[in-house]
This record gives sequence, C-alpha cells and structure tokens, in this order.
Amino acid sequence: MVDLQKVIDFIENNLNDTMYYRNEDMKKHTTFKTGGPADLLIEPCSINEMQKLMCYIFAEEIPYLVIGQGSNLIVSDKGIRELVIKIGKNLSQSVVKNESIEVEAGATITDVAKEAQKHSLSGLEFACGIPGSVGGAVFMNAGAYDGEIKNVLEEVLVLTVDGDLLIRKAEELQLGYRTSLVQKNGDIILKAKFKLQKGNKDEIAHKMKELTQRRERSQPLELPSAGSIFKRPAGYYTGKLIEDANLKAYQIGGAQVSPKHAGFIVNTGNATSSDILNLIKHIQAEVKKRFGVELETEVRIVGEF
Ligand SMILES: Cc1cc2nc3c(=O)[nH]c(=O)nc-3n(C[C@H](O)[C@H](O)[C@H](O)COP(=O)(O)OP(=O)(O)OC[C@H]3O[C@@H](n4cnc5c(N)ncnc54)[C@H](O)[C@@H]3O)c2cc1C
Repeated sequence: MVDLQKVIDFIENNLNDTMYYRNEDMKKHTTFKTGGPADLLIEPCSINEMQKLMCYIFAEEIPYLVIGQGSNLIVSDKGIRELVIKIGKNLSQSVVKNESIEVEAGATITDVAKEAQKHSLSGLEFACGIPGSVGGAVFMNAGAYDGEIKNVLEEVLVLTVDGDLLIRKAEELQLGYRTSLVQKNGDIILKAKFKLQKGNKDEIAHKMKELTQRRERSQPLELPSAGSIFKRPAGYYTGKLIEDANLKAYQIGGAQVSPKHAGFIVNTGNATSSDILNLIKHIQAEVKKRFGVELETEVRIVGEF
C-alpha cells in the first residue's frame, strides 16, 4: 500500500507548481473513457520538479505509472493503486530552431506536426491525427501512412531509473514496429528533438489535410477508442482477419468491434474496461481458432485486476 499522505506531504513541502488529484477518475485521462479511479494522479509542471518528484519516488521505492494522453491504454475497472504521473499539457513547451523542433514530452504529437507546418518543416505530416503525447509516441514508436517516429527523431532527454537526466540518440532507442528500448529500460521521456526538412508550407498543409480525411473516412473517430487494438501480425492485416472471422460489429456489453474498421474496438457509450478486455479475448480466440494467428495487443493494459 502506498502511503499517499506521505507523498502529498512531499509534494506540498518541496514542489511549487506540481498538481495532484486524489481518487481521480481515469475515464477523464483515457481516450477509451473507461477505467476506475487512480488513488493519486500527479501532474508535474516542469522538468526540474519532475526530477525532484521522481528521485523521491525512486528512493522510497513507490510503485508508479507514467502516462501521456492515455490514447493507448486500457485501465482496469478497479483503477490504479500505483501513483499515476501524467506528463501532459503542463510539460509541453517547444522551441523551433533551423530545421529542428525540440519539445517537452507532454505536447501532443498532432500539435507538434501543426507547429512544424507553421514553420514550413516537413516530416511529421504522418503524425497529425495521432492523439498521443510526444512521450507516448516515442515510447510506442508511433506511426501511420508510411511514416514513423523513428524517421524523424534525433534524440530524447530522459530521466533514468537512477534519477539521472540523460540525452539518448535515436539510434540507441531500438525503435521498431511499435516498440522501443524505453519499453524495457524504464526511462521516462521528458523531451524529444525532431529533425525535419524545409518544405513548402501549403504542400505540407495539403498533405496533412489529405491524411486527416483518410483517417476520417476509414476510422471510427466519432466514438471513444484506443486506435488499433492489436499489432499487425507479419503477413496479415488485423482488420481483415477480424472481419473474416465474422466479428465486425460483434459486441460485448458496451464494447464493439467497429463496423467501420474491424481493427478498432469502440466504446458505444457505456462500455467498461472488462467489456473491452472480454472482447479482446474473444477476438484473439476466434482468430486463433480460424486462422492459427496469434493477435498481440498494441494497447497497454494497466491497473489493478
Ligand atoms: C483514434 C486513435 C487513432 C490512433 N492512431 C494511431 C496511429 O495512427 N498510429 C499509432 O502508432 N498509434 C495510434 N493511436 C494510438 C496512440 O495514440 C499512440 O500509441 C500514442 O503514441 C500513445 O501516446 P499517449 O501519450 O496517449 O500514451 P499513453 O496511452 O498515455 O501511454 C502509452 C504507453 O506509453 C508510456 N508513456 C507515455 N508517456 C511516456 C513518457 N513521457 N515516458 C515514458 N513512457 C511514457 C506509458 O507508460 C504507456 O505504457 C491511435 C489512438 C487513437 C485513440
């Protein structure tokens, strides 16, 4: 059991701007809009305060979970007993210099793509429409429409599990299909530097608009979801496998395989995380039974079970 009062005392006595919320409803922090409460959710407002907070958490060996925009998360209905550290809009400053953008991890990757366009910088068009934070996008090596973070990332500033601030070059990060070193070593991403190219402002805007329209046509953006639920298995398209298993529009409770895109599960209004998890298990079992293919989740499942 985390001694919450002790953590709150630390925040109040040592940090000036860091916000904290007790018994915080995680529905407000996930794009699926499901999940139970976090006992304590903390939002640091500067890298300096983040480092102080984390050094305290490491020293006290308090369990914690870092989140960004919660757009790749399923939080259990019982909620989260670890401290939740949200890196969001309070850590989202950016600086554009020549052909690079350096940005704090809490900015949304879509906002960074828009900022790049304003400065006639090309390379992040693919990311416009991905609803995650910069930190989450690096952690997942997010990608779309033939683009991925790996192609544009120069380096990141991380806080290591030893409490050190360190620059890691993109080449060190083992960025692959929805994977990175950060998923293994526990680094917390605080900043990222993207290396872009000079381009034509209108052409960049045009490409972003075209990709947004493609998304709107093919994805159920009108309902809460976490994007693609499963990773793409080598040699297959996940959506097609699910469709061929006759699971399009299949529903458990309020969770439904999207009739628009079978690779998405949507919350039709009153889904619980258990509904979503049961639907995931059902899809995995059916696809395995019919085609012998194991579907691995891309979304990350967190909280108390
Ligand atoms: C409608 C929709 C469309 C989507 N389309 C795409 C798409 O086209 N391509 C794609 O790749 N993804 C897509 N996604 C999934 C999601 O947006 C990405 O995976 C995104 O990168 C997750 O970022 P996040 O900030 O929301 O991370 P979260 O969901 O908050 O967290 C995801 C993981 O990252 C870790 N993490 C988050 N921030 C940090 C940090 N600063 N340091 C260390 N670890 C951190 C968390 O611990 C967690 O394990 C989509 C999602 C939705 C809802």
